[in-house]
Amino acid sequence: MSTPLTVIGLGPMGQAMVAKFLEHGHPTTVWNRTASRADALVEQGATRAATVQEALDANRLIVLSLTDYAAMYEILDGRTIAGKTIVNLSSDTPETTVKAAAWLAERGAELLAGGLMVPAPLVGAEGAYAFYSGPKDVFEANEDVLEVVGRPDYLGEDHSLAQLFYLAQLDFFLTTLAAMLHSIALVKTAGVSAAQFAPYLKDNAQSITMYFEETISNIDRGQYPGDLANILMMGASADHVVGASEATGVDAELPKAIQSLYRRGIAAGHGRDNWTALYNVVKPGGK
Ligand code: NDP
Repeated sequence: MSTPLTVIGLGPMGQAMVAKFLEHGHPTTVWNRTASRADALVEQGATRAATVQEALDANRLIVLSLTDYAAMYEILDGRTIAGKTIVNLSSDTPETTVKAAAWLAERGAELLAGGLMVPAPLVGAEGAYAFYSGPKDVFEANEDVLEVVGRPDYLGEDHSLAQLFYLAQLDFFLTTLAAMLHSIALVKTAGVSAAQFAPYLKDNAQSITMYFEETISNIDRGQYPGDLANILMMGASADHVVGASEATGVDAELPKAIQSLYRRGIAAGHGRDNWTALYNVVKPGGK
């Protein structure tokens, strides 16, 4: 079934989404602050709205793909949006998302908050998925059309949930990417090429999934048996990574943050526990 919709915000993500909506036969109206970013999409069959209000009036379903929620306020403030379903796939804090839902409700519009979990070239590809939260009936009414950009995973009525899951994923992603750069920088201080180190780093990255079950199970049970590897031993390695960074002029801020976790874990009496006991430092109270 074809569902007409409007997409506002045509950065790499908005453009990729519009291309998918069109490919699946959903008539799509577009608007972007920098109008030229719509040109290629219009050639592919999208309808260009001359103004924001024209874009809003064209359809009930409005998808936003903006840098943040501040951009949403800038675009929608003062416009007529009563009766609209706003699916906001822009990044921001969970708290901001909840406030936006109230702001939209005061103006007669409903918010479905979302977070699409793939880079632009993979929008709509196999394995792409998106988190959504907000009113269940709104999600169910739009699930079919949203599916074309990625598998829609509904998390619940609380508007903050999609953003929270999205950011938790980015937390892991950004930290891991920064760690990757850092370990390459360390090796390169010896004049070794990144390519020579790459197979080992790849192996290390793949082995991380091995730790999932132990981590989840220990945290859920609140038990951290340290018989195979404990915080004292791993904390010494964290010290050595800081030492090696400082000695070679590689920025030490990232390993220092890790060192601090270990030091605080040891100070709290977790030295003989498994490293997952650091969860008590990351989330005081451990629950
Ligand atoms: P961009 O920052 O490239 O594009 C953002 C869009 O927001 C542009 O259309 C821009 O308009 C518009 N915009 C920003 N501020 C304003 C404003 N004040 N008024 C009007 N329009 C504004 O982002 P992406 O397309 O890369 O990403 C969109 C969202 O998707 C972001 O929240 C991002 O975190 C998220 N995301 C991005 C991924 C990626 O790989 N790029 C992956 C997954 C999620 P203009 O063209 O005029 O500048």
